[in-house]
Amino acid sequence: MNVDELKTAFAKMFGRSPSGVVAAPGRVNLIGEHTDYNDGYVLPIAIELATWVTWAPRDDGRLALASLQQPGREIEVDLCEPILPGEPAWSNYPKGVAAMLAKAGLALPACSILFSSNVPIGSGLSSSASLEVATGLALLAAAGQDMDRYELAKLCQAAEHAFPEVPCGIMDQAISALGRADHALLLDCRDGSTQQIPFDDPDAVVLVADTQVAHELSDGGYAARRQQCHTAAEKLGLAALRDADLPALEAGRNELTDIEFRRARHVVTEIARTLQAVDALKDRDMPRFGELMYASHASLRDDYDVSCEELDAMVESARGCEGTFGARMTGGGFGGCAIALVRSNQAQAVAETIAADYEDRFGRRCPVFATPPAAGARIVE
Ligand code: ADP
Ligand code: MG
Repeated sequence: MNVDELKTAFAKMFGRSPSGVVAAPGRVNLIGEHTDYNDGYVLPIAIELATWVTWAPRDDGRLALASLQQPGREIEVDLCEPILPGEPAWSNYPKGVAAMLAKAGLALPACSILFSSNVPIGSGLSSSASLEVATGLALLAAAGQDMDRYELAKLCQAAEHAFPEVPCGIMDQAISALGRADHALLLDCRDGSTQQIPFDDPDAVVLVADTQVAHELSDGGYAARRQQCHTAAEKLGLAALRDADLPALEAGRNELTDIEFRRARHVVTEIARTLQAVDALKDRDMPRFGELMYASHASLRDDYDVSCEELDAMVESARGCEGTFGARMTGGGFGGCAIALVRSNQAQAVAETIAADYEDRFGRRCPVFATPPAAGARIVE
């Protein structure tokens, strides 16, 4: 992102120079998919793509919100009135954060805010969480306040539930708020505890490949899987599938339908793989980490039924490349992105192969980019 260009755009729009700049990144989940709502573990990294915010105080008691990705859809809110969701749809993300900060006791500062993001919107790299966390940090900075970063993440999650009404987990906001360069974040979705895991092997890099497809199925498919997990846990007499292991699941197999059993098997094995992946990272054992990624993909494809042919094709073309440790779909599935862990000196070649294979098969190219584990939300100026 070119910060000077953003400042110039701000000056043009609001007729004055901005007072501050903050940024909050998007994310990819390395492993631990569909485990969050089963009280399990996730292991995301922040990526270099981020939402950037410039802001300046105003003296008319209003909050002005504008985004370079939503031209002509600016909005102003009177801070003397309650903040309510509504049109334009995009503004519900930042308005929700403002409303939650006010509810938490912050005297909201009147200010003008301009957003710009290079996180692709709707690709599963969490442009929404980066927008929320960036909003929170900007409003806090404008008010001369700070807040514990995990508390900020929870507040942003509550905002996404309440305003755009998306029933998201805590992972996206947590990694955007807490990400650290050269670290992955182990997040325990049961108790909210976090651990920074060094991920600083100069010989390994993460590639992100964007299918640029969002299958219709995703909304209903997600809700159905949550329900199947919930039912499976209930039938097994457990608070959550986190409390099962494979032998316990096998023992209770007769209680479950075949679908419930397969959904539960994915969750139980994925939680175990996530903890094994943490050990592999600590040992800098990239081949082991890569094997766990392939196993995660197979489980999501075969037991959880959330992959699609575009994601499967990307994983297979990465697998065919020299220098690939492992690959898997990432995010909720039915489209979105795949990731590959590859040798740094072969990353360019692997990226080109994935894009070329994709074009051969689906008739269009897909964006593929490398990212190190990047920093989380930060005050830039
Ligand atoms: P993602 O996987 O990218 O998080 P979501 O559907 O959860 O996809 O969130 C995308 C929505 O977030 C957009 O439709 C838009 O309303 C909002 N959004 C994200 N980034 C921006 C931005 N830079 N400017 C305005 N709105 C944004
Ligand atoms: Mg989102």
